[in-house]
Amino acid sequence: MVIRPIGSPRGIALIFLALVLAPSALLVGLGWRLFQEDRANALQLLHERRRQTADLVVSRLEQGLTATGGSLGDAAAIRRVTEYGDAVVLAVEGDRHEVVAGQPAFLPVPAPGREVPAAAFASADRLWHHGLKEQARERHRDLVEARDNAVRAGALLRLSWGAPSHQQLQLFDWLGAIENVSIEGVPAGLFAAIEKCRVLEKLGRTTELRTIARVVRDDLLAGRWSISRRVYEANLRDVRGWAGTDHTSTAPPGGELLAAAIDAWWQSPDRQIRSARKYLGGGNGVTLIWAGDGARRSLLAALPSFAEREWLAPARSLATARKAVVNLGGADVGAVALLEERRPAGETGLPWTVTVVDADAVGELARLEGTRSLWLAGLAALVVLIGAGAYLVTRANGRELAVARLQSDFVAAVSHEFRTPLTSMRQLTEVLVDERVATEDRRRAYYRALARQTDRLHRLVESLLDLGRLEAGRSPYRLEPLDACALVRNVSEEFERDTTGLGVRIDLDINGDAWRVDADRDALTNALWNLLDNAVKYSPDCRTVQVSVDRDADRLLIRVRDQGIGIPANEQRAIFDKFVRGARARADGFKGTGIGLSMVRYIARAHGGDVRVQSAPGAGSTFTLALPLITTPN
Ligand code: ADP
Repeated sequence: MVIRPIGSPRGIALIFLALVLAPSALLVGLGWRLFQEDRANALQLLHERRRQTADLVVSRLEQGLTATGGSLGDAAAIRRVTEYGDAVVLAVEGDRHEVVAGQPAFLPVPAPGREVPAAAFASADRLWHHGLKEQARERHRDLVEARDNAVRAGALLRLSWGAPSHQQLQLFDWLGAIENVSIEGVPAGLFAAIEKCRVLEKLGRTTELRTIARVVRDDLLAGRWSISRRVYEANLRDVRGWAGTDHTSTAPPGGELLAAAIDAWWQSPDRQIRSARKYLGGGNGVTLIWAGDGARRSLLAALPSFAEREWLAPARSLATARKAVVNLGGADVGAVALLEERRPAGETGLPWTVTVVDADAVGELARLEGTRSLWLAGLAALVVLIGAGAYLVTRANGRELAVARLQSDFVAAVSHEFRTPLTSMRQLTEVLVDERVATEDRRRAYYRALARQTDRLHRLVESLLDLGRLEAGRSPYRLEPLDACALVRNVSEEFERDTTGLGVRIDLDINGDAWRVDADRDALTNALWNLLDNAVKYSPDCRTVQVSVDRDADRLLIRVRDQGIGIPANEQRAIFDKFVRGARARADGFKGTGIGLSMVRYIARAHGGDVRVQSAPGAGSTFTLALPLITTPN
């Protein structure tokens, strides 16, 4: 704002701001630190809780594993824990083993049954090779009646050679029913079933073929036969081809996984370790425990469902009570996450890496974040409040100082205004009293000058009194219908007379007559006088003032226009406030008190009208006094 009636109270404001802002910055800093500590404490607490939970979980898992390991020698206990078909227990002695519980799909060292004794068929086979097939068959038929299962199996097999298909099917059914016999390492049952499938395939009896193949496939998966991995895989491949795709398989899914895990253990150097635990990650998730005394050892291979039921479930319920979640995994379970406690297998002696995570980890973090947002909002509100408070106080302070400065300026200006006419009056009076005036004409001129100065003083005093009365809310005016055009004409003429010798000219432009307003004559004269006075005062280079009287629908418009210094846009509102003077008026030493225009506005408003200005620096100013008309002219 250009209008700066007083110097800025910037110094005081700065000191005040420093005094207010420094402690508030400190407060905010302390608040922030407190929050950080609070957050760290909360995280520490969570961490402690997780650590304790992890300790408890680990010891519970250890208990479970120890109990299972200890029960491996107890047949009843083994049956109980393996009844769900998701574990296998193997008794191992040197290079031999025996399945104690469960059904692995294949075995490292299988016992498929007794082989067919070649000696029993030596003579018959010789006949066969010499082309005496009928005689050989005769022998074979005899041997079918043999007591020895293995011999019977050999005879049935030989009878199938070159027999018609329907006979072959019958023979393989009989062969399949023989137990504990193997033909070249393949149990007779499996051998016969596969051979039967081949015949059915040859005959194109696909529906039957598929049914049988599916049964054989499921038996293989369920570990029905004690076979090697090689036999298992080769036969499974064949039957899978015949069985086609179906989703009706009833085989338990784990037999193959457990068999593979046992096979891998058998091949590895781990077998030499007396007792240990191991978790085979990488997709199958089988846990192995083995222990024993001396040469005899027991190996337990368990699927994840077994681990879950026997070991993890008790540990999990313990963790749940402490608002945590437990996971078992291999060594490579990824990066440690926030709010997670991890116990690697190497540290605990357990087969798995145990991970304990806060059950509501996301919630805990969100809560911490929420607290942080609250802290931030609180601190922000504090800063805003302090800032706003500081601003308001500074502003109020600035205003008060500005008013004080305005008033002191005003007193100085008023004193000056008084002094000028008083000085003239004193000089004139002295001359008159001393009778130093030469001629009568001159004396009269002196008296007139004395009267003018008295008028000026009178107007000044009246203005001040009016201002006081108006401010106190008392209208000092007596309104009466007046001929506005006549009044403007009279005041203009009087003003011209008053300024005789200053070269002032007033161009009057009155477009009507008998326009009447309800007004106080003295007040309206005073307002117009002030406008004329300003027009002359602020036009140092052009002493011609244009005064026009006009009207619009219901208002009388008195315009006073000059060619003076003009008023910048940003001052045009404030100049109507009391004691306010324009920047240029002050800078260029134009005399004044800053109450003229405020008086004009008081008077205009007291008459139900208003005053406006149109102006630009260097382009002169036009003040328009608008008053309500009371009669419509003809
Ligand atoms: P002052 O005693 O300073 O003239 P006023 O209230 O009459 O007090 O006017 C307030 C201010 O408005 C003046 O100081 C001046 O800056 C500006 N002003 C008023 N009339 C004119 C004008 N005719 N031309 C230029 N500026 C004016």
